[in-house]
Amino acid sequence: MAKIPFYKPDLVIVISGPSGSGKSTVIDALCKADETLRESVSVTTRNPRPNEVDGVDYHFRSQSEFEKHVTQDDFLEWAEYGGNFYGTLKSEITAVHEAGKDVILEIEVQGALQIRAQDLSPSRSLLIFIIPPSLAILEKRLRRRKTESESEVNNRLAIAKSEVLEIEHYDYWVSNPENAVQEAVQQIQTIIAAERSRIDTQLIETINPLLDVDKSN
Ligand code: 5GP
Repeated sequence: MAKIPFYKPDLVIVISGPSGSGKSTVIDALCKADETLRESVSVTTRNPRPNEVDGVDYHFRSQSEFEKHVTQDDFLEWAEYGGNFYGTLKSEITAVHEAGKDVILEIEVQGALQIRAQDLSPSRSLLIFIIPPSLAILEKRLRRRKTESESEVNNRLAIAKSEVLEIEHYDYWVSNPENAVQEAVQQIQTIIAAERSRIDTQLIETINPLLDVDKSN
């Protein structure tokens, strides 16, 4: 999708869902299809998985480096998940918006709730929750990718159940059935398109000077 007339990207699009719900696949497809979307790169204390690259998948940092970011108030939100820490840098959000794109955050529920509780102006949040078809399928996906140990898989399944209970704090939900990623992608594209078409103060400020020109003629 190309640049949209009158629209200045200001969305912080939060996408959550249990580990194994297919968030990463959906977000990759969204960013590939729309050059005005970019995913923020989070900071984490977790060890990189075999094909993960520092600065691309995450900024992999030590515990003390993470704590320094917390002390300096660098994070928009941060949380502990499965024994590791994860956080979104405020500077990432600003950089993506300044590049003329809306930013996508793939984050867990505690972080999403911190964003919900904040006034992000001049940005605005859009919270989307991806629901897997069933816990059995979630478990199958987690085991199939073989990136977690048995105890980590069980821990992630337990967290999944508690995360779904927080869905009431989100704006929209999307289901991600087996072998139908494109359906979830299309549904999210529709939600983003609607949000971008909202009539808000920013749109009015952009439109008003144009109307003045018309009046003077
Ligand atoms: P993973 O270890 O599988 O990459 O991520 C574990 C969980 O942490 C996932 O639910 C992922 O969405 C979440 N996560 C990744 N980055 C962040 C972040 O910056 N903040 C928060 N709160 N969660 C994150």
